[in-house]
Amino acid sequence: MFSRVLGHQRQKNLLQKAIRCGRLPHAYLFEGPDGIGKRLVALALIKMLFCNNESACGDCPACQKVDHHNHPDLHQVGPEGNSIKIEQIRTLQKELSYRPLEANHKVCLIDGAEKMNLAAANALLKTLEEPRDQTLLILLTPSPDSILPTIRSRCQRLPFSRIPREKLQEVLVEQLQIGDAQAHILATLSEGSFKKAFGKDRELYLKRRRELLKTLTGLSKGSILPLLKLAQEFADEKDLLFDILEIIQAFYRDLLLLKHGRPKEDLVNIDLMETLEQTSRKEDTLSLLGKLDALTATRRHLERNANRQLAMEVLLLKLVA
Ligand SMILES: [Zn+2]
Repeated sequence: MFSRVLGHQRQKNLLQKAIRCGRLPHAYLFEGPDGIGKRLVALALIKMLFCNNESACGDCPACQKVDHHNHPDLHQVGPEGNSIKIEQIRTLQKELSYRPLEANHKVCLIDGAEKMNLAAANALLKTLEEPRDQTLLILLTPSPDSILPTIRSRCQRLPFSRIPREKLQEVLVEQLQIGDAQAHILATLSEGSFKKAFGKDRELYLKRRRELLKTLTGLSKGSILPLLKLAQEFADEKDLLFDILEIIQAFYRDLLLLKHGRPKEDLVNIDLMETLEQTSRKEDTLSLLGKLDALTATRRHLERNANRQLAMEVLLLKLVA
């Protein structure tokens, strides 16, 4: 059922209404940040269409097949390597040319639609220009601007936004049985992404964040060896490095907000108030802004594949200065 998907009430209502009135478009473009549930809503929509009980019950054979990725009338496409290639779109087109086997519709779900290369996008455009009955395409993307305008204009666009922090916090307290302070930290750091809040980052956000910030604030200008060691430790965390940078960024943002007398609710690290207060007394606004700039610059260098170890050393030297 749609109600099992958290949040996005307006979008869910709209889709339900479209099904009820038999006014589904040939193609949807679900757009919005990664990890907020676009795919879950798309799968719920597909179950609504396929379900033997017409309710996306989740229990009937049709719903089960959607969950297990083996429904013959659902075809899923996603980036292979860094892009979606024309062969994948050709396969999709072939799928769409058959009649539905078990459901009333043929559905294709394209995840990461902005990753279609030009040839693939042009091929898909043909399908969108000559839609067949009883077919539905659902494109998912965090960056609609990277999709060909001609494709965008042939899809019904449905924007999704991040779950508000308060709402996410409520859900976290309820589902993870954690305290308000922890839920606050998790909800703020994951920026409305369920995937992040419930996923692998949880341990990093809650436990390791404290250790990491403790080590970082313990560094001093003279302590070159510990600094190099920490830089190495960060550099080794290839997959988590951007999340670690986010944590450090949130810490310095907290210091800045604290300095300007903002209330505790606006901060992330509310379980480290003492550390925040001590550190903020040693910093002035200008130096905090400089450190936040250094963090942004580091992120940019890393996106361009700079040497991780070196980038982290330079960053830490700036942060302890
Ligand atoms: Zn069902």
